[in-house]
Amino acid sequence: MLLIRNAEVYAPRALGVQNLLLGGGKILWLGASRELPELPAALRTVSSVIDLEGARLIPGLIDAHVHVTGGGGEAGFHTRVPPVPLTRFTGCGVTSVVGLLGTDDVARGSGELLASIYALREQGLNAWCYTGGYHVPPTTLTGGVRSDLVFIEAFLGIGEVAISDHRSSQPTFDELLRLAGEAHVAGLMTGKAGILHLHLGDGPRGLEMVRRALSESELPARVFNPTHINRRRALFDEAVALAKAGVTVDVTAFPVAEGEDAYSASDAVLRYAAAGAPAERITVSSDAGGCLPCFDGDGRVCKMGVGTAGALLATLCELLARGMPLEQALAPFTSNPARLLRLAGKGEIAVGAHADLVSLDATGAVQSVIIRGEVHVRGGVAERHGTFET
Ligand SMILES: [Zn+2]
Repeated sequence: MLLIRNAEVYAPRALGVQNLLLGGGKILWLGASRELPELPAALRTVSSVIDLEGARLIPGLIDAHVHVTGGGGEAGFHTRVPPVPLTRFTGCGVTSVVGLLGTDDVARGSGELLASIYALREQGLNAWCYTGGYHVPPTTLTGGVRSDLVFIEAFLGIGEVAISDHRSSQPTFDELLRLAGEAHVAGLMTGKAGILHLHLGDGPRGLEMVRRALSESELPARVFNPTHINRRRALFDEAVALAKAGVTVDVTAFPVAEGEDAYSASDAVLRYAAAGAPAERITVSSDAGGCLPCFDGDGRVCKMGVGTAGALLATLCELLARGMPLEQALAPFTSNPARLLRLAGKGEIAVGAHADLVSLDATGAVQSVIIRGEVHVRGGVAERHGTFET
């Protein structure tokens, strides 16, 4: 049992100063009074108290596009990025991740991805993943994407399947539609998200195939989930139009250079809101562990960086600095991905919800991080580390 006192709660809705009692990994009670409610005798011993002294308490951030195994490999084997350790997530307020494979779905496979997800779970993080990778036919564990989703609990959907990109396998419209159908049916059978998470490249075809799928197939718009939509300004406009048609779109929090034909994640979230697109259909992810390569005209890598999960909190702070209220700015990092991914009890602060909580100090830095009721970070310092972290 853990009691959190004097938290200014954003659920994401602003609830004012509250006290929370956590137990069994969940939020058992939430109330403004200083006194605990009547509890059964067995529950009366609160083992620990954290007094937040009025600091802001938000739901743990959900990062739904992470290369947990490490991505890369696009400019030789020495460019394969190593796996992302636990505190690279928890230290930045990320309490849930969805892992995936990208360009390299040959040297890396579904087994390695699942093993990395299970390792993060054993260390206390909430973790799931997508089956497949950039290419079609997709890499799988059981021989089919539908059976992967139906029989392996940790798989939530298919992705990241690359389109409009020179690194894709140039999937045809029918191939894409088939994959989306497999994801949808598996979602129906299991109650899981059952989405097709689409990596968008810089190609001018943009989201053409998704628009066509909405007009020519019976598949619901929610099945299609394009990411990196802010990498090109015209692509972003296409994505806003699709969001208005029912598609949830994902912004990547990558660095954007001055004058680049792209929007930073905070620019994209602000522009999305200004365009009057549905507030619940935008999410932000970090691409942590993924390589951020720049290619020259011949398709050769000319420079390379690595995505980090800290980009989420940095984007949230930018949104606040640019005048967006916290309760509005939080949704793309918390309640929106939880809704899209059908993660019950995630992305919100409420009685009965999972106790995934982050408190922020006055500067917006992470103060404490609690995952399913267990303290991972206290006073800005990690108390739990991954197996091979010092
Ligand atoms: Zn990608």
